[in-house]
Amino acid sequence: EEERRVLDDIEHQFHLDEDVLIRITKQFLDDMHLGLGEYNHPLAMIPTFVTGVPNGTETGTYLALDLGGTNLRVCEVTLLGNHEFTIKQQKYKVSEALKTGEASVLFDYLADSVDAFLTEQSSVGSPISPSRDILNPFDSISTPTVPLGLTFSFPVEQTALNSGTILTWTKGFAAKNAVGHDAVRLLQDAFDRKHLHVRCVALVNDTVGTLLSRAYNAGSCLLGSIFGTGTNGAYVDKVENVSKLGDNLVRKEGGLMIINTEWGAFNNTRTVLPTTPFDNKVDRESINPRYQAFEKFISGMYLGEITRNILLALIDAAPKPLLFNGRASTVLNTHYGLDTAVMSEVEDAWESNREAEIKTNGQPDWQNSHFTDVEALGPQDLARLERIRGIVVQRLLLDPEDVSLRDAATVRWAASLVANRAARLSGTAVAAVLVQTGHAKLGGGTLEPEKNIIIGVDGSLIQHYPNFQTRLRMSLRALVGEPVEKRVEIDLAKDGSGAGAALCALQAVKQG
Ligand code: ADP
Repeated sequence: EEERRVLDDIEHQFHLDEDVLIRITKQFLDDMHLGLGEYNHPLAMIPTFVTGVPNGTETGTYLALDLGGTNLRVCEVTLLGNHEFTIKQQKYKVSEALKTGEASVLFDYLADSVDAFLTEQSSVGSPISPSRDILNPFDSISTPTVPLGLTFSFPVEQTALNSGTILTWTKGFAAKNAVGHDAVRLLQDAFDRKHLHVRCVALVNDTVGTLLSRAYNAGSCLLGSIFGTGTNGAYVDKVENVSKLGDNLVRKEGGLMIINTEWGAFNNTRTVLPTTPFDNKVDRESINPRYQAFEKFISGMYLGEITRNILLALIDAAPKPLLFNGRASTVLNTHYGLDTAVMSEVEDAWESNREAEIKTNGQPDWQNSHFTDVEALGPQDLARLERIRGIVVQRLLLDPEDVSLRDAATVRWAASLVANRAARLSGTAVAAVLVQTGHAKLGGGTLEPEKNIIIGVDGSLIQHYPNFQTRLRMSLRALVGEPVEKRVEIDLAKDGSGAGAALCALQAVKQG
C-alpha cells in the first residue's frame, strides 16, 4: 500500500541502529579530544575553572542570577551543610525585544531585576553576608558587597571563574554587541551603572550548575546535563587532559576540572548524524542555520518543530493527502507552532496504564515506534487513540471532522519517532562522557564499575517527556553494556542553575 510505503520510508529515516549509535559515539569522543586540545573547535569543551565538586557540607547564603532559559530568575540560596539548601526565587520575563535588542539594555534589565529582588524578596536584605565564616573580599567602605553567581547558559569561552567571552547566542537570543564581550563585565557594568552593591564573582553554565547542585545533594557527580529548551552537558575530567590550557597555572596544579562540552554544537561541521529532510527544514528556517546541529535533533525547542514538518508533509502528500483530509490549521501553519509538550501529552495518553499489558505482551510499544494499524487494535488501545484524537483536535485547533482515529495514530507515531531518536542520540552523549572518563568501554566489555555513577539532569524534556529517560537508557545500554548502564544513577538536579551558581560563588569567594 502506497500510504504504508511513505510512512515506512519516514520511519526508516529516523531509525538509529546500534552500529550507527556506536559510530556517532566514536565521533563524539574524537571531537571531545579535538576540543580539549585546541580552542575554536566546534565542540568547544570549555574549561570552567571550577576545580572542585561540593560534597554537601558547605554552608552560606549567596545570590544567583539565571539567564538562558525561558525566564530570567533571581535566587537567594542558603546552603545548610547537610546536603540540603533552601532557595527563594523570583522569575522575570525576558521579552523578544530584550533578547534581540542592544546587550546593554538586556543587562540593565538583569540589574534591575536583581535590584527588585533585593528590595522585595531577599530575607537577609541587602547587604547579605555571604557566609559567617568567610571574609568578604569585596568589602567596600560603607555597604558590604553581595556576591552573586551568574548562570549564563550560552557558549562562553571562560578564562577564569569570573570572566568569559560570549562566543555566540543560542535558543532565540541575538542581543547586539554581546558576542566577543565578557558576560561578567557586561553584568557588572550594569550593576555599577545602578550603584548596586552586588559583585558578580562567578560565571556558571547551567550544566555546571546542574552538576554542582546534584553533587551537593548526592555527595558527588560526574555529569550535569540539560534536556530543556536546549541541550548541553558538563562533566569532570582530569586537568591534564585539557591540553589546550598549555602551561596555565591551573593545569600545572593538576587535579580535576569541570568541562562544559557545549555538545549542542556536535555535528556542526564534522557530520555523522543521519539527517532527514524534516531536520534540514528546521535548520534552514532557524535563526542559526548549521549551528547547534546536535541540539536541533534533541531539545524541546525543536522536537515539536520536526514533528510539525512531518505532519505537514503527510497533509501535503500527493497524489492523496495522508493526514487530516489534507487540511492544516493555524497551529500547524505557524513556525514553532507545535509545542513539544503536545507530543508529551500524546505519548502520555498512549502509554497510560500500559504496565499490565507490557507484562502480558512483552515488549512495550515505545521501543520500536512502529506505526499502529488501527484495524488491529484492541478496545483499550482504541480508547487511548480516542483520547489522542481529542488532544490533537484541541491542541492543533483542527476541525474534529478532519481527524480520524487513524490520524491520531499517525500523530502518535510521528511524535514517538522524533522523541525516540532524540533520546537515543542523548544516550550517545552520555556514553561518550562515560568512556572519556574511564567509567565505560564503548561496545560494553569488561569494565564493571564498583560505585554508582551519578548524573544530574534538568529540563522539561527529561522531566516530563514520557519514557525519555528509559529510551536514553536503552541507547546507553547498547553502547556501554548493561552492567555499566545499571550503575548509572540519573536524577533531577534540584534547582541546578540557582543552587549551582551559589555553589560556584562560594568557591569563588573561597579562592579569593
Ligand atoms: P529551559 O530549558 O528554557 O530552562 P525548560 O527546561 O522548561 O526550560 O524547557 C522548555 C522546553 O521544554 C520548551 O522547548 C518546551 O517546548 C519543552 N517542554 C515544556 N513542557 C514539556 C513537556 N511536558 N514535555 C516535553 N517538553 C516540554
